[in-house]
Amino acid sequence: MTAIDLLLKRNAELGDAVTGDRSSPRPSQHVAILTCMDARIRVFQLLGLIEGESHILRNAGGVVTDDTIRSLSLSQRKLGTREVMIIQHTDCGLNSVTDEGFKDELEADTGLRPTWAVEAFRDVEASVRTSCRRLQQSPFLPHRDMVRGFVYDVHTGRLSEVPQAAE
Ligand SMILES: [Zn+2]
Repeated sequence: MTAIDLLLKRNAELGDAVTGDRSSPRPSQHVAILTCMDARIRVFQLLGLIEGESHILRNAGGVVTDDTIRSLSLSQRKLGTREVMIIQHTDCGLNSVTDEGFKDELEADTGLRPTWAVEAFRDVEASVRTSCRRLQQSPFLPHRDMVRGFVYDVHTGRLSEVPQAAE
């Protein structure tokens, strides 16, 4: 059985029961959460979320990219969110690569060098601050005053806020 087969089996076992408020695509808490794809971050459980409350965006690192801004532009302008919570984490896979090293690897393997940034980092708090700043400086987002960044410790489950950089 493949992993996808296993997941389909689990889905079938759920039946038709649904929880949470499904009446609107507009998040009832008016918040969007950006976090890493890391398999140890259980976003719903970690924040006590129920369906219908929040947008959740995930990518490698939980970093702000052009595609994040695309999604948040839609989230804020069409679906009413106002706050953004960025959650990066300890022991992230992006700690174990470098931008140039991973691009070299891709180029050696394929002959093509990606134009996108890998967004590798060593200092997770600095990476959170960079992502917060990208949102705070994006003209596409109408709500930039409630962007807050956090680090999730994957071993203790603790969430720590990253102080905003002084202007
Ligand atoms: Zn990660």
